[in-house]
Amino acid sequence: MQYMKKLAIDRFDIKLLKLGQEAKLQLYSVPDYRKVQEGFVRGDVPFFTFQLKSEKPLRVALKGLHPETNPEEVARELVALKFNVTKVTNLKNRHGQKSGIFIVDLIPNQTNSRGPHPIYSLNRLMHVVVSVEEPYKKKQPLRCYNCQEYNHTKNRCHLAPICALCALRHPTENCTVVRDDPASRKCNNCGGNHAASWKGCVVYKEFLERVNPRQRRELRDAKKRPPPGPEIRDVPAQEKNDLKEVKQSLVWIVELVVGKQAACYPSLVTVTPGQTLTLFSLVKVWKL
Ligand SMILES: [Zn+2]
Ligand SMILES: [Zn+2]
Ligand SMILES: [Zn+2]
Repeated sequence: MQYMKKLAIDRFDIKLLKLGQEAKLQLYSVPDYRKVQEGFVRGDVPFFTFQLKSEKPLRVALKGLHPETNPEEVARELVALKFNVTKVTNLKNRHGQKSGIFIVDLIPNQTNSRGPHPIYSLNRLMHVVVSVEEPYKKKQPLRCYNCQEYNHTKNRCHLAPICALCALRHPTENCTVVRDDPASRKCNNCGGNHAASWKGCVVYKEFLERVNPRQRRELRDAKKRPPPGPEIRDVPAQEKNDLKEVKQSLVWIVELVVGKQAACYPSLVTVTPGQTLTLFSLVKVWKL
């Protein structure tokens, strides 16, 4: 506090963490931030940890339990073991069935933050042999946040910045295109009317196939399936023959009635599956 007075900063918040061992200092202006930062560099406040350790929640995959185990029960058991659990869900497999994998979200509340979280050492839960692993993450194609192209990162990019929203040559954060205006979006990878980050982009899908073999398999299987749409009925051979006969008799009737070669008017004597046109055609032919 004294220190902040010395720097003539009056608008700030301090949040104590880890029972006061660390503190988070929230400043509200860039000049204030610079002043404090310079102070830290000079070593004015050696006891102050400026960099915050990650408070990000931890997500792990708990394997080995019976698929029918109630996730709430799993959470209760973990809480009883002093794990700060926020959520437990059962992971469904590709066919939507319950699996023996439970996804556990927890807040890392351990005092010793170095090394793997103690939950990784868990090997029994409700007397069942279990293992705790990092959850499987689907591999995503790497897209550069500078030029929006795939397979390299912004840190290694020496290309001119390309906007992820409008595909023009400026950094995305400088984009003047209205973010909520979908019509003005443009993807520089495929030229389509969407932001470069859209997962439905054809170029994204191409790269996804390359990095994710499972995805590739799924996409390949999807391609094998016929596209949805109106079903085209294949006329069985027998029915085709029947139709031929119907058509032939129709021609004869027409010839009898009109006394002309009905074959001259083939368009009038057409029989297609599922259509009854005998009467209409005959009336038409009659008038000839
Ligand atoms: Zn790049
Ligand atoms: Zn832009
Ligand atoms: Zn695209």
